[in-house]
Amino acid sequence: MAGRVDRRQFLASLAAVTVAGSSVIAAGEQTSTPQAAAALKDIRVPRRRYGRTGVDVSILSLGGMFDIPNNQLMLKKALDWGVTYWDTADCYGNGQSETGIGMFFEKMPEARKQVFLVTKSDRRDPAGMTELLHRSLERMKTDWIDLYFLHGVSSTSEITDEVKAWAENAKAEKKIRFFGFSTHKNMEELLEYAAKLGWIDGIMLKYDYRLMQTDRMRKAIDACAKAGIGITAMKTQGGGPVRTDTEEELKLAGHFLAKGYTPGQAKLKAVWQDERVAAICSQMPNLVILKENVLAAVDNNKLTAEDWKTLERHAVATASSYCRGCGHLCESAQGCEGLPIADVMRYMMYKTSYGDLALASGKFRELPSDIRRRLAHGAFENAEKVCPQGLPISEIVQQALKSLA
Ligand code: SF4
Repeated sequence: MAGRVDRRQFLASLAAVTVAGSSVIAAGEQTSTPQAAAALKDIRVPRRRYGRTGVDVSILSLGGMFDIPNNQLMLKKALDWGVTYWDTADCYGNGQSETGIGMFFEKMPEARKQVFLVTKSDRRDPAGMTELLHRSLERMKTDWIDLYFLHGVSSTSEITDEVKAWAENAKAEKKIRFFGFSTHKNMEELLEYAAKLGWIDGIMLKYDYRLMQTDRMRKAIDACAKAGIGITAMKTQGGGPVRTDTEEELKLAGHFLAKGYTPGQAKLKAVWQDERVAAICSQMPNLVILKENVLAAVDNNKLTAEDWKTLERHAVATASSYCRGCGHLCESAQGCEGLPIADVMRYMMYKTSYGDLALASGKFRELPSDIRRRLAHGAFENAEKVCPQGLPISEIVQQALKSLA
């Protein structure tokens, strides 16, 4: 991958942006120096081919779930460092994410052609999708979306012939270039299904150093890669819905910090080592995180066998705090039918792992009131029995009701 740096250059960049004796996590703008700026000036994130689209995208994608109208500098710095794949959705920040991107393109219209722009629809009916697409185009001051996703697909029944016809029509009208979906629930089944369809161009899925190790996921990703579907990983650094400040996290941090990586950088590098993945979409709400991730992207070194063992040991030790998104198991358990357990686990992950209480409670409050009532009075023993991770579902749902409702 062109644009990468070797170990010596990587460490030099880190040294330049890091205060003595501290990790790159601490490398905020406040600690930047002229040397740091010089070291970062020529850095460009590498690119990979996005499935059969023929388009090369930056391997790091800027996730748009932050206050973009008030953080325009983030977009500028992302462009400077070659992070040209931008991801948003009609619903992010109640439309503010797209509005913020539109503000940027209005000021810098020449930037639009550099950006591979992705947005998403929560509607599934053709009329609703058309309405949302037009709203996205208007908000982002653009005539086209590069890749348009159905947002948060959790069942194959959502990928219909109607949707296919809609996508073909939107492509013919040149309003979108490519079409696909995002998913954090029942991913393997959805990938297997999409690989056979022939009209899905891209998929963004929850994918990390844990999920990439399972046989079914490996095969599902393989099937998509062979079918020419571009793959974007997300939630790559996210932990579980339970506590994330444990002894195990400290052990993981200790191993990687000694090598010059933060645990977050190591988790990104693990997924980039899978060449079938074109890009990782990461929420980077400030320059510290953007810089940390950019440095990981340009580092040319592979994780060692010992690094992988450390990640695997960590995955095993923290299994009972991590949700795999296999909602078809717990959500069909007796007494829990139709309850969005996997979603609640994800919202709690936003709170505990991302530290984003506003996002977590915003999502939780979007659940219909009858569902929230059922969650409050639900019995989750049967769901816990089928959960392969052994998650204390009942306890986590209670925490969600208490802290997010
Ligand atoms: S079965 Fe367990 S791991 Fe799978 S979605 Fe449900 S809570 Fe998460």
